[in-house]
Amino acid sequence: MSEIRVLVVGASGRMGREVVRAVTQAEDMIVAAAVDHCKGGEDAGQVAGIGPLGIVISESLSDAIAQSSPDVVVDFTLPTAVLGNVRTAVRAGVACVVGTTGLTEKDISELRGLCEERKQSVLIVPNFAIGAVLMMQFAAQASRHFDSSEIVELHHAGKADAPSGTALRTAEMMASSAGSQFAGKDSSDGRSSRGQAEGAIHIHSVRLPGLIAHQEVIFGGWGETLTIRHDSTSRECFMPGVLLAIRKVRGVRGLSVGLEQVL
Ligand code: NAP
Repeated sequence: MSEIRVLVVGASGRMGREVVRAVTQAEDMIVAAAVDHCKGGEDAGQVAGIGPLGIVISESLSDAIAQSSPDVVVDFTLPTAVLGNVRTAVRAGVACVVGTTGLTEKDISELRGLCEERKQSVLIVPNFAIGAVLMMQFAAQASRHFDSSEIVELHHAGKADAPSGTALRTAEMMASSAGSQFAGKDSSDGRSSRGQAEGAIHIHSVRLPGLIAHQEVIFGGWGETLTIRHDSTSRECFMPGVLLAIRKVRGVRGLSVGLEQVL
């Protein structure tokens, strides 16, 4: 089987550099091209700290697609850039794995329509860490048995969006698992200091240096609490999920959300 040709967008960023390293180490795929606004013209391997790969970072996604014929585009950029990048990739006929968080429901619905029109595959993954996927599934399960819950998500100070995509996805999965009744069980007192409400579930966002990506889902009941917590202690934890998504995305029909779709 031929290697999967991967184009990494955001290749100079924290996650993008990790993806360049992981794809290079994987036996069944290669970095076909790298795109970023930052460090354009430099070698993607050098920027990722693994020595030269002979892949020059381009500043234009459409040019890079035209020149490298990738099988899959992987996007780890910014909430302001991701929608345009996915539109470009889908219109060029390339499947997309989206790690960037911050896409709105409206953005996702537009991309879903575009995928249907172009018969293209897009997999949006709010969290690639297997432990985080399990944390979301356990929270969805527990939400059927508790009346009240709040989410605390903690990330490094450089994270551009709040609340995190993982927290929003968790709240969505909890509400859907518990049914509409759960969404009506509001534990809020309306004070903004309690964080953004997603349905009836309040999400608190902490941004501090020293953190990477962490989340607690706390359930409260009569005389008891249940806390489900996940900690990413290094960005490496996202890479097995990213590689899996790259391998599977072309089998996804249209647009799907969540790593669990391909696990
Ligand atoms: P980062 O270090 O800021 O990297 C983003 C990179 O993308 C920067 O080099 C940035 O360049 C570049 N960029 C911005 N707009 C671009 C565009 N239009 N075309 C090409 N490159 C562009 O951020 P990060 O920590 O790697 O995180 C990236 C995203 O991944 C965030 O949304 C984060 O929340 C998400 N994330 C997801 C997961 C997951 O499991 N799904 C895990 C961790 C992080 P400039 O600096 O010049 O703008």
